Amino acid sequence: MTAKQSVVDAIGNTPLIRLRHASEATGCEIYGKAEFMNPGQSVKDRAARQMILEAEKRGDLKPGGLIVEGTAGNTGIGLALVGKARGYRVLIVIPETQSQEKKDMLRLSGATLIEVPAKPFKDPNNYQKVALRLAESLRKTEPNGVLFADQWNNLDNRNAHFQTTGPEIWDATDGRVDGFICSVGTGGTLAGTSTYLRKQNPSVTIGCADPEGAAMFSLFTTGEAKASPGNSITEGIGLGRSTPIVGDIIVDKSYIVPDTEALPVVFDLIQHEGLVLGGSSGINVAGAIRLAKDLGPGHTIVTILCDLGTRYQSKLFNPEFLRSKDLPVPEWLESQPDIVV
Ligand code: PMP
Repeated sequence: MTAKQSVVDAIGNTPLIRLRHASEATGCEIYGKAEFMNPGQSVKDRAARQMILEAEKRGDLKPGGLIVEGTAGNTGIGLALVGKARGYRVLIVIPETQSQEKKDMLRLSGATLIEVPAKPFKDPNNYQKVALRLAESLRKTEPNGVLFADQWNNLDNRNAHFQTTGPEIWDATDGRVDGFICSVGTGGTLAGTSTYLRKQNPSVTIGCADPEGAAMFSLFTTGEAKASPGNSITEGIGLGRSTPIVGDIIVDKSYIVPDTEALPVVFDLIQHEGLVLGGSSGINVAGAIRLAKDLGPGHTIVTILCDLGTRYQSKLFNPEFLRSKDLPVPEWLESQPDIVV
């Protein structure tokens, strides 16, 4: 019987999809891992499941317990869905700047949401620090205990990708993968997947695609985490410091990918591939194209299609929002009249 026992078992085993336009443009074979096909529609379902199941095994989560996390949204959606399936309540602290669609989905999934003003990590009121303080204070009153998921420091996040994403990519390409590249939110995807692929074949080239304003390009090229100039409208990526997860990743090729390069890729994926994806997928595919150009024709390169574009309808696909950020608006997005009969 192949039936799944619960939504928890439906996470992972996503398809690897050839990106025709990017492949033809570079002479490489570029594939995207369809993480938007997870039940919570993002790559973060894997980390959420691993953090919950491992906490259960350690005895850190008891039936009816409360899970607390600071998240840009996708981890929270994964925690909420797996939490529902396994009988936990979920409390999420989220920067108010994140898309309305993600907040709506979090509430719909049963999470309690605390929206806080967006502050840099060094600020005591940064959402991750507010979440930690909340978890500590709730521990005093919660009868069934509190788990602070702590995705930036929790190695279960990275192990989720070592145990699932990496092996799935290896199997789907019959081991013929020359390069793997993605962006970093916590770095769980990049660290876990690259460690697995390198273990199979030490000569796989590992790349990082960093949005403007993040510090991974600097960390992986100089060893020091210094933010690059500029900023990005992408959500869920753009880490500004070294952490236990990203501190020891070995990256061969790092690129800073500006939004002006990533957004046309997001639009191109819709027009040429039939894939409606979020901004971090645009950064990733743009990074895969750069890596393909560096490696030269004939190589197989894999990246991550992190989540769905519908999660950002009010931003990425809203001409007014794009114009307010001085970003290009494709003609077809301006003129999509409904036909009423
Ligand atoms: N893309 C999106 C849309 C995300 O929400 C995240 C996680 N915040 C990532 C990419 C990056 O994943 P990771 O935390 O594994 O680096």
